[in-house]
Order: sequence, then structure tokens, then C-alpha cells
Amino acid sequence: MRFTPLSVGVAALAVLAPETAATAPDGLRGQLDLATAHCSPSTPGNGYQASLDSYYSLDVREIKPVCVFRPRTAQHVSRAIKVLSKSTAGNVAVRGGGHSIWPNNNVADGVTIDLSLLNQTEVHLPNKKNAGAIASVGAGSRWTSALLEVEKYGLSITAGRVGTVGVAGLTLGGGLSFHSGRHGFTCDDVTNYEVVLANGQIVDANSKQNPDLFKALKGGGGNFGIVTRFDFAAFPAGPLYGGMVTAAWDHRDTIVDSFIRLIDINEQNPTDSQIVLYMYDVASRSSTVSSTVINTDGITNSTSFKPMAAVPWLSDQRATQTYGELAAAMSDNGGDRHVWFSLCFQNNKRVVDKATELYNQLIDDTQGAMGDVDRIIFVFQQLPRHYAQKNAGGNVLGMDKSLTADSIVWLGEAFARTPEAESLFQRKIAALTDELEAFAEAIGAATQWRYINYVNPTQEPLKSYGAEVKYTAQNIAFMKRVSAKYDPQGFFQTRVPGGFKISHVK
Ligand SMILES: Cc1cc2nc3c(=O)[nH]c(=O)nc-3n(C[C@H](O)[C@H](O)[C@H](O)COP(=O)(O)OP(=O)(O)OC[C@H]3O[C@@H](n4cnc5c(N)ncnc54)[C@H](O)[C@@H]3O)c2cc1C
Repeated sequence: MRFTPLSVGVAALAVLAPETAATAPDGLRGQLDLATAHCSPSTPGNGYQASLDSYYSLDVREIKPVCVFRPRTAQHVSRAIKVLSKSTAGNVAVRGGGHSIWPNNNVADGVTIDLSLLNQTEVHLPNKKNAGAIASVGAGSRWTSALLEVEKYGLSITAGRVGTVGVAGLTLGGGLSFHSGRHGFTCDDVTNYEVVLANGQIVDANSKQNPDLFKALKGGGGNFGIVTRFDFAAFPAGPLYGGMVTAAWDHRDTIVDSFIRLIDINEQNPTDSQIVLYMYDVASRSSTVSSTVINTDGITNSTSFKPMAAVPWLSDQRATQTYGELAAAMSDNGGDRHVWFSLCFQNNKRVVDKATELYNQLIDDTQGAMGDVDRIIFVFQQLPRHYAQKNAGGNVLGMDKSLTADSIVWLGEAFARTPEAESLFQRKIAALTDELEAFAEAIGAATQWRYINYVNPTQEPLKSYGAEVKYTAQNIAFMKRVSAKYDPQGFFQTRVPGGFKISHVK
């Protein structure tokens, strides 16, 4: 019977961890055999549908796993991996916050391990033996809850910027934060990972224990194990100042010029950050340009934003507030079919202008499909060189070598409602991305690095982890060695197919 080996596995999971919610949809009840009692059908409140409904992307919500397994402890994850690695049927997916836009976090005909019940944050304050505060954050947490907990102690962490996004996926891929100017990538502030390996063993990875795994987890994604807890260095922080401001399209030039200047002077003003967002609103058939402008020290008139002082904002949400309050206000639960492509290029106005030309062209070319689209956005984020020097050599992003000039991370996104619109924008934005990349290369303004958490599944970020071919090859070889050492059977390369796999990188 097709599901027999998996059925036994699922039954074992439920028996081993009876308090967890292991659930399955109605149609699979019979096939699940012994597991039926535990992988019960859609009893209201049993968690299966709620788990699916809480994914960010509609494409992912539509994938029906045989079973959603929701562990409450690292031991539950360990037992699950022992069972699942012995079963030969059905793949496995791992889900943190579920905010990836593509189905690397859910699996049809397999078991999805939904970590959302591992959502506690504990703060350990310094004592004589401990130089700094540590926030231990469960791998199913979202940023709002982690931040609000650490803020009770007057502390902060190098968190993601949108409160509903998961701590796990963002941190495993690197992590861009409003605190990046002082702290680098989110992963750079992880002092210890609790990890379940492919053989079910629960280990710590830090600078003393399993240091190779510790480094590989800093940017290497879900290639090496299931992280069940992240220990972050927490640091004193008061309220920040900022929020989103929005202007009419006519002010784009002033805002972009200010953004480019902000990147130029960011090393001297590391507590300032800005995200520029072009948004085409389908309902009004018009574009606006927004900026999220933040000073993490709470300074209200920071020098980085002075060139925009005269812009007449259509809306202004700036306030003195904590990071957690801002992240909560920026929450985004998704629900569309999301098309994302991403590039990096140097902090060069000509490339931004080219992106603007391509944005306008995209909107003109796709007017016929706008009935099936909620919005189109282009996002520009700062990536100054000094971000990469905070933990030089200590992560696998390779940027301490590859980021040779202050740069911009660009995202082109469509929020589609139908599969047809999604595939149209997939084609259009793919072509546009190629054109933008070629333009940046042609004028000597390319930046090779691709951010694993922003790219389209058709892009290959891991092979960009280092500028020179030699250095990239070293980084890839390192990750392959770590994978072979901690997962000799390749469980996370073959049975957990979601995400960018290091074994696929040539
Ligand atoms: C609205 C929005 C805002 C965003 N803002 C930011 C931002 O400010 N900064 C930034 O850097 N990025 C940002 N991102 C991108 C974000 O980092 C990625 O989408 C990230 O994957 C989300 O993490 P998650 O835990 O929600 O992901 P999931 O979808 O749950 O997981 C993503 C991947 O990580 C794997 N994974 C998850 N948990 C584990 C685990 N515990 N162990 C092993 N593997 C695991 C999954 O299998 C999957 O392959 C944003 C995304 C969205 C949609």
C-alpha cells in the first residue's frame, strides 16, 4: 500500500509525542492505518487547516501534506527524525514561520514538521560568568513575540523587520535587520544553535562545540539539520524612531537620491536605515514611493534623512516606538501568489534609474492582467560594505570578500491572485531581472551576492557565496563537508527537498 511505511512512521510519531498535534485531512484517514487515531481528520481546532492557512503564500497553503506534525520540544523533533529517516515513503518539510514565498516549507504526500509550538523566548541576564545577555528563542517563533519579550528587559536582538516573519528561516538565511548597521546580519548575533541532526541526535553548535556546523548554519539555510532553538546575543536598546512615509511618484528622485546618500554615509551613521518601495496600486492604477526610515537610537532628526525634509508626505507613520511595536505594526500575513526575484548591485543611481524604467515598462506591458493582481512592488534595501565586516569569516555568506562596494539589495515582486497571473509575472519579472543584471554588469556596477531569503526558486544563491571563483568554491566545499559530516546519508539533501540544497551546487 502506497502509504504503509509512512503510516507506521506517523503512528510512531503520534505515540512518541502524544501531546503534539499530528493531523491529516479526511481523505487520507483510511490509508493512514494505525496512524488514524492520531492523524485524525479535520476535527475543528486540530491544527491541520490552521497550520496550512497560516502560510504566507497561497501556493504553499494549497499543498496538502499527509500529516502536519507539531512538536513541543526538541526531543519530539528528534524522535520524529529517527522515525521518518527510517521510513522510505514520503518526503519531509520543515516549517519555521512559514513566510517563504515558495513551497520549500511544506510537502505534498509527506510529513510537514511545523515548529510553531516551539515559540518561547527566554532571556538570560548576565552574571559573573556570562559576559552578555542571551535571548533563547524557539525555532517556531515569529519576530514580534521574540522582540516584545526581550524588550521587557530593556534589550533588543538583531531581528527581522516584519513581525509575522519567522525567526528560523530568516536567521538561517542570514537576516537583514534595522540593527544590521551595528550588528551585521541576524545570523552574526547567534551565539548557539540547538540542532537536531539527521540521526536524531540533539547537539549544540557554537564557537566551541561543533564550530564547523556553527559557521555553516550562519547563512547555509536548512542544509544541515533542524534548528530547534536560537540563542541570540541581546543588547541594551531603547525605543527607535521611524516608520513608513509615503509620497507621490513625482518625489521619487528626491527620495532615491537621499537613499543613495544614506548608503554612502552609513558607516558613519550605522543606526540609520531606509527601505525604498515603489508600489503600483491596481485599484487606483497609480504608483507611489514609500520609505521605511528608521533610527535605532531614537533620534528624530537624523542627518541621513535631511535631504527628504521638504517632501510633502501623503502619509507619515513615523513615531517613537520599540522595535517590537514597529515590527507588529508592519505585520503581513500574505495570502497572494507571490512572485519574487532579487538582485544586488552597487549603490549607483544609474542602476536604480534602469530599474525604474523597467518597473514602468512592466506596468505598461501587463495592464491586461491587472484584474488578477493586488499590487506590484519594487523594493530597494541598503547593503553597505560595513554590514559584511561585523563577523568577517564567521559565516558562510562570503560577503566579507565579495562585497567590494556599497550595494543595494533589490526585489521585484508581484502579488497575484490567479495561477495565470502568477505565471505571467514569473516570466516578465524573470526577463526584467536578467535585463537589470546585464545593465549593472555592463556599466561595472554588478554585485555578485544573491540573498537566499529573497531570490526566486529559479535563481541559485548558494553559488554566489564569495566573489572570486576560488573563494566561492572554498565556501561551497566547506558547506558540502559539513553536510557530509553531520548528515552522511544525505537525509536533508534528499528526503527534505525544500530549499536550496548544497549538494545541487556544481
Ligand atoms: C513580509 C516579509 C517580510 C520580510 N522581511 C525580511 C527582513 O526584514 N529581513 C530579511 O532578512 N528577510 C525578510 N524576509 C524574508 C524572510 O527572511 C524569508 O521569507 C524567510 O524564509 C522567512 O522565515 P520563516 O521561518 O518564516 O520561513 P519558512 O517558510 O518557515 O522557512 C524558510 C526555509 O527555512 C527552512 N527552515 C525553517 N525553519 C527551519 C529550522 N528550524 N531548521 C531548519 N530549516 C528551517 C524551511 O524548511 C524553508 O526551507 C521577509 C519576508 C516576508 C514575506
